[in-house]
Amino acid sequence: MNVNQFSDVLRCMNTVIAEHKDELSELDAAIGDGDHGANMARGFSLIVQDLDDKEYAGIGELLSAEGMVLLSNVGGASGPLYGTLLIQMGAPLKGCADADGALLADAFHAGVLAVHNLGKAEIGDKTMYDVLAPVDDLLAGWRGEGEGRHASAAEVIALAEEKCESTRDMLAKKGRASYLKERSIGHLDPGARSCSLLIEVMCQQLEK
Ligand code: ADP
Ligand code: MG
Ligand code: MG
Repeated sequence: MNVNQFSDVLRCMNTVIAEHKDELSELDAAIGDGDHGANMARGFSLIVQDLDDKEYAGIGELLSAEGMVLLSNVGGASGPLYGTLLIQMGAPLKGCADADGALLADAFHAGVLAVHNLGKAEIGDKTMYDVLAPVDDLLAGWRGEGEGRHASAAEVIALAEEKCESTRDMLAKKGRASYLKERSIGHLDPGARSCSLLIEVMCQQLEK
């Protein structure tokens, strides 16, 4: 995947987030402050504006710059968390004009570790990390680590959806939803949903 194909991925992400803006905000209205759809839609539309204005030499430079766009313009929990994810994904891809699945999985691993360090969420806390961490584990096979075999894009998408769905029965321990304690049970986590949507876009584009 080259720099232009990668900017197309971000443009597709913007389209999908815009299509799901109301759904994400409704999920957030149930257990938070109802702004997750608006936060994400604004962030990704600013990314597309930046892509229209600038050219990037490598995928890493592109990812880090768009992460900064999210970090500096999107408030709440998701702006800094998704911003950090993209910025740190960019680090191993600096100067990289073309990335294969193995390199992208390495980059994703770096991004997920950074989200973990920043947000301090563990698995089961009902956050985006409940989708990010297991997908990152599955991608160990892409990175050529351990015994992991190379999962198909469809398997990655299915796992992201399943892990997103699993947040429904969780009691939130991080973010605004944690204020609700037991009342957070029975609702999907909005960040887990946006995460699963974005992973789906990434995998679909990789297959092309
Ligand atoms: P805010 O809650 O500040 O209004 P958003 O609504 O945009 O921000 O994003 C909420 C999402 O952020 C949650 O659904 C959850 O997935 C994620 N989130 C919140 N706190 C954390 C955290 N500490 N670690 C990981 N993800 C988190
Ligand atoms: Mg919110
Ligand atoms: Mg908010």
